[in-house]
Amino acid sequence: MPQAPSCATSRDHGTAPGGVRRLILGDVPDDCLFCRIVSGDLPATVIWEDDHTIVFRDIEPQAPTHVLVIPREHQPNAAASTQANPAVTSALVAAAAAVAEQEGLDGNYRMVFNTGSGAGQSVFHTHLHVLGGRDLTWPPG
Ligand code: AMP
Repeated sequence: MPQAPSCATSRDHGTAPGGVRRLILGDVPDDCLFCRIVSGDLPATVIWEDDHTIVFRDIEPQAPTHVLVIPREHQPNAAASTQANPAVTSALVAAAAAVAEQEGLDGNYRMVFNTGSGAGQSVFHTHLHVLGGRDLTWPPG
């Protein structure tokens, strides 16, 4: 089974009295590319932002419109994001639909969550691909 590179959700800040581990949510994992985009450390062409999500253009577009919708909160994939906070997944899909309209895709687009390296996931921070602007065939490669 291929292992996802680790990219912690939060940093361990030691143990509080009573043995409770102190985890500071919202810290930026140093080794996560998309956390660096969320923090503004790495530039991206951002076209949408809201409380939960950021949307930016894919650096290697596979269609005339190819954007990535990501949660601000780090999780390695969509299933983990949903388990941690189902509202985030809902926000990702809502942002994808809003951006698809903003991009003039007229209701014709594809949303994709690649999950696991065997399915083509290369960045282990949840991201929803939104592709459109050309005919999209099925099955995908
Ligand atoms: P996946 O292969 O599903 O994990 O998708 C990762 C996507 O991130 C790919 O389509 C890459 O082209 C895209 N990507 C990687 N680095 C950047 C970046 N710095 N800015 C925008 N898109 C990126």
